Amino acid sequence: MQLSRAEAKTAWLAARGDEKKRACRRLLAFYDLPSRGHCELALSLLQEEGVEYDLEDVVEAVMDSKDREYILRILNIECQSCYGRFPMKKLQMLTSCQCVMCQGCFKMFFEFAVREKHVTEIVCQFCDSLDQSDPEQMDMHSSTLDTQLRDCLDPEVFDIYSKKLMEYTIMKDPKFLWCCHCSFGFIYEGNQLKIQCTSCHKSFCSQCKKPWEPQHQDLSCEMFLQWKRDNDPEWQKQGLVCFLQENGITCPSCGFQYALAKGGCMHFTCLQCKHQFCSGCNQPFHKALCKNVPCTINGLHAHHPRDCLFYMRDWKPDRLKELLQLSGVAFNTDPPADTENLDACSVMQQKEEGVQLLDQTCGNKTEPGQAGLCEKHYREYLVSLINDNSLDPATLYDGGELAAACARYSVVVQRGEGEEDYPYKARLLEKLKEVPLGENVARRK
Ligand SMILES: [Zn+2]
Ligand SMILES: [Zn+2]
Ligand SMILES: [Zn+2]
Ligand SMILES: [Zn+2]
Ligand SMILES: [Zn+2]
Ligand SMILES: [Zn+2]
Ligand SMILES: [Zn+2]
Ligand SMILES: [Zn+2]
Repeated sequence: MQLSRAEAKTAWLAARGDEKKRACRRLLAFYDLPSRGHCELALSLLQEEGVEYDLEDVVEAVMDSKDREYILRILNIECQSCYGRFPMKKLQMLTSCQCVMCQGCFKMFFEFAVREKHVTEIVCQFCDSLDQSDPEQMDMHSSTLDTQLRDCLDPEVFDIYSKKLMEYTIMKDPKFLWCCHCSFGFIYEGNQLKIQCTSCHKSFCSQCKKPWEPQHQDLSCEMFLQWKRDNDPEWQKQGLVCFLQENGITCPSCGFQYALAKGGCMHFTCLQCKHQFCSGCNQPFHKALCKNVPCTINGLHAHHPRDCLFYMRDWKPDRLKELLQLSGVAFNTDPPADTENLDACSVMQQKEEGVQLLDQTCGNKTEPGQAGLCEKHYREYLVSLINDNSLDPATLYDGGELAAACARYSVVVQRGEGEEDYPYKARLLEKLKEVPLGENVARRK
């Protein structure tokens, strides 16, 4: 005799005495339970006060284990979103962090995320355990999420996800280029310097990404940049303002270039690929503890090398100049001869306006001897010269700075018995200088 699921459950719950035995037998046959013991356990679970389990879930659970406590646990797992209790089988777990949601909440959350968010932000809403700046972790995360989403989202929404994921993957291809005229991106397989954007049809250089000019034809990118500095009227007029913008910010993840000064806040988020990095040293920003050893910072942070602007932006211009002078590097102190506005710094930078980021001119006051820049941007200019020439700021460290830097980079030197301060610090400095300068600090000469 066939039994519908609803009938089976009613029979199960109504069963008493002999009836119970009969119900047991019918269910034994219907569900293929291995023993009467399994049946009775299932029956007693269904009769628990104040809960209503699905018969199928209970039967499945008693098939897995006969441990009542264990079964109760796996039948009652809390969804972290709606706090409802569900059997393990009916939950979705995020493999990157083990947070759980019921199927309804999972679908609702990811449907929203897929429609509204950037692909790198389609992550767990409950915890920070996935390091979004770690490409390896992100690849693992998106490959398992891809399978889960394929099963639970409507095909139309899943297509949006696939498309976003594919665009993001292409963006990270080393052959991927952004047009500097229209911000269209494409893969370029050739090896010509001059290439034409397939969207706006204007040309730019595939190496230095500058708008194409005929003068670039027989010059290397470096020589072309020098030619521009010497001949371009815009350069003549704007001087260091142009320098800072040319130096700009390039996303280390997707290569998008921003003609912006680095400014006071070094934490930069790429608008194209959402990668978060330090604009001074290109190191990734992490939201929580990261894999760098020893990292004890549980919050937004990056690990900056000692020659990152992050540390040197606090140096007075005179001190930065001293470092340059020690190596005979020349620097500007005067604004270009035909500067129009002598009072306000006209460097482009990103400013936060409420929740929006806007590109604006700095507008801060300039002082004599700062080449037409405000003090903050003049410091940035001097630091970029220090970086271009790979100068080591440790040369000018005082005792406190030396100790702090040694602690930061785990430099340990045992002090000799009765060793004087001076020789000890000299040995410390020598050891610190063995720690390489920033690997990814932009060094453009
Ligand atoms: Zn839920
Ligand atoms: Zn999580
Ligand atoms: Zn274009
Ligand atoms: Zn070029
Ligand atoms: Zn980017
Ligand atoms: Zn940095
Ligand atoms: Zn860290
Ligand atoms: Zn400024």
